[in-house]
Amino acid sequence: PMIKLGVIFGGRSGEHEISLMSATSVIKAIDKEKFQLVLIGITKEGNWLLYDGPVEKIEDGSWQQEAEAALANDPDKYGITVLGAGGKSLKSIIDFALPVLHGPFGEDGTIQGLFEMADIPYGGCGVLGSAAAMDKALAKEIFAKRNLPVCRHLMLQKEEIEENLQGVIQRTEKFLPYPIFVKPSNMGSSVGISKVHNQEELISALQLAAAYDRRLVLEEGLDCRELETGVLGNYNPEVAAVGEILPSAEFYDYKAKYFDGGQSKMCIPADIPDEIAQEIRVIAAEAYCLLDCSGFARVDFFLEKGTNKVYLNEINTIPGFTKYSMFPLLWAEAGFAYPNLIEKIIDLGLERYKVRH
Ligand code: ATP
Ligand code: MG
Ligand code: MG
Ligand code: MG
Repeated sequence: PMIKLGVIFGGRSGEHEISLMSATSVIKAIDKEKFQLVLIGITKEGNWLLYDGPVEKIEDGSWQQEAEAALANDPDKYGITVLGAGGKSLKSIIDFALPVLHGPFGEDGTIQGLFEMADIPYGGCGVLGSAAAMDKALAKEIFAKRNLPVCRHLMLQKEEIEENLQGVIQRTEKFLPYPIFVKPSNMGSSVGISKVHNQEELISALQLAAAYDRRLVLEEGLDCRELETGVLGNYNPEVAAVGEILPSAEFYDYKAKYFDGGQSKMCIPADIPDEIAQEIRVIAAEAYCLLDCSGFARVDFFLEKGTNKVYLNEINTIPGFTKYSMFPLLWAEAGFAYPNLIEKIIDLGLERYKVRH
């Protein structure tokens, strides 16, 4: 019998729209002779909806109305429940879950924990790898403990900012020179991130980042090139070539990533010396294993101009996954066509499930 493949898209995070783009590409590429697709959309409010309408309606968000109408019309057919109290349980409608979600409640171990509880094999990192990689502040602490190169950074809690803003500013300015990057610790697609050049910008950036997360990370702003690589596998993973991002803005912000009319560029492989590419690939594999990643992930680096020093920035456990995103393009360069990459990720998820059970 065909595997009932649940592709899960949308989600509660600030990256909902990006997930719709990634999922549209993934759904179109899946071989329908091999897999029986079950599409599950999660609304921004967190409702789970079964969707069997056209894939074209996913990207612009109009799938949601259609799915809600189907549910109202035929609750027996379209009603699902996550853990099985009333309605059809998730486990009864899918054999494998492929979360194509970005950011909190998708990439951070929470939905992975739900799949574990429901005993459903799934694609990508497990609970620990997802949670550890999503939290930039924690990940940087762990990387530093293993002597992996990370930039100067400071972790802050939202409550500290609310209680004692002046103290936070003093501590920040003592430890980090401007420009400073202010980030929600758990987020992606540059949502909530600012590059600040003075105290006034710092204050509004702290407020912005705190609107997205309880935890914040502040980093020295490097004058750098941006390099990324892809890791694929469970035990002893493979590492792809290194690619370079050439952002169209002062940094690779949300708009430069997705809505600049293609002005940001990618260069695969990156035009860098072989030794540096090799150094990056070794660090990527070590960081991936250190955080207990499995399945796949994209690892992001900075190469400081002038010194040529490599810095490990972060691991994205569900990186952008359109056909034109860095991660699939890096593997295409290594000879993995886009549909084969998706099947490999499914195989790796099944393999991890077997090792565990
Ligand atoms: P994504 O998950 O989409 O890759 P993200 O939201 O997790 O992004 P980062 O990758 O940490 O965030 O940062 C977003 C961008 O901000 C980087 O691609 C880079 O352009 C810039 N940036 C972040 N931190 C620094 C830094 N310390 N120095 C220089 N530039 C930085
Ligand atoms: Mg990220
Ligand atoms: Mg991300
Ligand atoms: Mg990044």
